[in-house]
Amino acid sequence: MWAMRGKARDRNAMTGIPYRQAIRNACAAFRKPPIRRQLMRFLEPANRHIDRVFIHSSATKAKMDIGRKEIDRWHRERGWSGIGYHLVIRRDGSTEIGRDVDTAGAHARGHNTGSIGVVMVGGLSDDGGSEANFTGAQFKTLRRVVDEMITTYPGVTVMGHRNVAPTACPSFDVLRWLKTGEVEP
Ligand SMILES: [Zn+2]
Repeated sequence: MWAMRGKARDRNAMTGIPYRQAIRNACAAFRKPPIRRQLMRFLEPANRHIDRVFIHSSATKAKMDIGRKEIDRWHRERGWSGIGYHLVIRRDGSTEIGRDVDTAGAHARGHNTGSIGVVMVGGLSDDGGSEANFTGAQFKTLRRVVDEMITTYPGVTVMGHRNVAPTACPSFDVLRWLKTGEVEP
């Protein structure tokens, strides 16, 4: 029994730990890294079969700090039901949930069934070419997302959009990055 008795500075008779410290320890034990908290819903296993995760770029310039809201609008303008990706990794490495993982995405033509689409914001140079201009924070988040996907969907294959279509997307070689951590165009 973890009764709250006495003053915060008093010590627990059994452990000798001050109450205030004990409360702090208990809180720390339950504190998840923020990225995981943002991803909670996304990390719940989808109620459809998932065997592939596709990484995309938003094909926007590095200085464009856009996110779910803008991409959702662009995709609606194309006549889609809303954002085609399931997860957005913004320039600062934070995440935003896109389409519900229970619903097939609209991100890789012919490959949307059984897959999840993750988009990294960026990927376009100032002169409009493909450029691996993502931030370190974005790659750090992507690594965590990939790790979580592998845990959530054992046997899942993670790849770039370019691995199934004639496109430069996502502006870097995902398979090489997964293996070596190097970012190659
Ligand atoms: Zn793509």
